[in-house]
Amino acid sequence: MENNENPEVLQSSESGSPLDSLGISSESVARFLNDRDRYDQSKHVCICGHAINKHHGYEGGRGYCLTGRHECPCQKKNAVLFSNDTRYFMRKTYGLGSKHALSTGLLRLKQVGKKAYWLEEPACWHPNCTLANPLIFPVSLDKGSQIIDKPGPINVLLCESCILNMKGLAGHEGKGWIW
Ligand SMILES: [Zn+2]
Ligand SMILES: [Zn+2]
Ligand SMILES: [Zn+2]
Repeated sequence: MENNENPEVLQSSESGSPLDSLGISSESVARFLNDRDRYDQSKHVCICGHAINKHHGYEGGRGYCLTGRHECPCQKKNAVLFSNDTRYFMRKTYGLGSKHALSTGLLRLKQVGKKAYWLEEPACWHPNCTLANPLIFPVSLDKGSQIIDKPGPINVLLCESCILNMKGLAGHEGKGWIW
C-alpha cells in the first residue's frame, strides 16, 4: 500500500515519491510506524499468548485474561511481542513449544500475512541458566513451577537444556524431544 509507485510517474519525475521532496524516505516513515507500535500497549502480546488488551483487573491484584470464550489463568501480564494485529492471539495452550498459545498465535498471524516483533530478543528466563542453548520455547508452568500441558498461571521462555533438566532428562539435547 505504501509502495504504490506508478512507473510512469517515476520516469517523468526526478523523485520516486512525493516524500522525497520533503527529505523523508519511506524507510524512515516505516521505522516511525514500527516504533509507534512498539510503545503502543494496545499492540502488545503477553507471554501467555494473548493480547495485553484482553487482560483485565491486574492493577487491582486479581486479573483475568479473557479471549473469546477462553479464560486463561495468566497471573502476571508480561508483554513480549508487538503486532499490528493482535486479534489472532486467541488460542489455548496445550503444552510447551509448538503447543503453546504464543506459538499457535504466531503461526496464525503468519498464515494471514501479518507480522509481529519481539520487544526483546528471546532468551532463557531460568534464573540458573548458564547453558546458552539457543533453542528457546514458551512454557506453561503451574504455581509450583512445574511444566504443565494446559494453560498455566505462569508462562516463561526457557531453553531446551533447562526444559530437559526440569523434566529429569538432562543431556538429551538435540534429539528433538522438545518441539
Ligand atoms: Zn497473559
Ligand atoms: Zn492469556
Ligand atoms: Zn536455560
